[in-house]
Amino acid sequence: MQELVSVYRPWSDRRRRSVELAERYPHAAEVLQLHQALLDVQEHIYDAALAAPPAPSTLPAFAIAQALPRVLEVTVAAGPAQLSTAAVARFHSADLEDLIGRWLRLEDQPLVDRYLARAALTPILEAAGPDLAGTACSGRARGSACPICGGPAQVSWSALSGESLVTGPRYLQCARCQGAWNHTRLNCPGCGETTGSRLPVYGEQDRFPHLAIEGCKTCNTYVIHVDLRRDAAAVPVVDELAAAPLDLFAKEQGLSKLVPNLVGM
Ligand SMILES: [Zn+2]
Ligand SMILES: [Zn+2]
Repeated sequence: MQELVSVYRPWSDRRRRSVELAERYPHAAEVLQLHQALLDVQEHIYDAALAAPPAPSTLPAFAIAQALPRVLEVTVAAGPAQLSTAAVARFHSADLEDLIGRWLRLEDQPLVDRYLARAALTPILEAAGPDLAGTACSGRARGSACPICGGPAQVSWSALSGESLVTGPRYLQCARCQGAWNHTRLNCPGCGETTGSRLPVYGEQDRFPHLAIEGCKTCNTYVIHVDLRRDAAAVPVVDELAAAPLDLFAKEQGLSKLVPNLVGM
């Protein structure tokens, strides 16, 4: 008997969704245009890491040689001018090994450094799998951290349940290794608060029927929630990038996102 192994390839799903959302949401078109260009580069990086997976000790060198220059090139070609200028400046002035190390250790760093490290490293971590992510990453997010790498949750989502009246399972997805883990609804991923009245949910039904802001008045954080039961075509990490108006609303409520997304929102 042969074991059926299918290599997980998220790229076509992400690309399809990014194109759909760029048409649906003019406010997100610029961000998603960069995202689509990045996806091509990230798929290439992913394949390079699948073909010759780096070890934890060679991960920074691998990223500097095979990933960062491509990320920079596509950012200049398809990114907004401000990001592109900042990225070029950092690429030429920063200690790149340190830039990558800080991201892997969950240390504070400028937004542009975080963008470069994240765009370059996530496809490598995704390709190499939990063993590399678990060893190469350090630092543990506060609250509900990724069981694989200890990273923070970027987005929460509800899966399709199969039975219409049954609540589908809920997950958080890691901003660092992209792993997902089970999560209870009434439990703040930032601080563990469980009192319902401290956990407000905001949304904009007309424009974003499948998205919501899940906030916490105790630690003043929020995550964007993506409900696949309301839009089965959604891809949580992509839909999260298109939710900028909700992010602005959350900020007006005094909430900050558990962790900024790829483009710093
Ligand atoms: Zn993780
Ligand atoms: Zn909280």
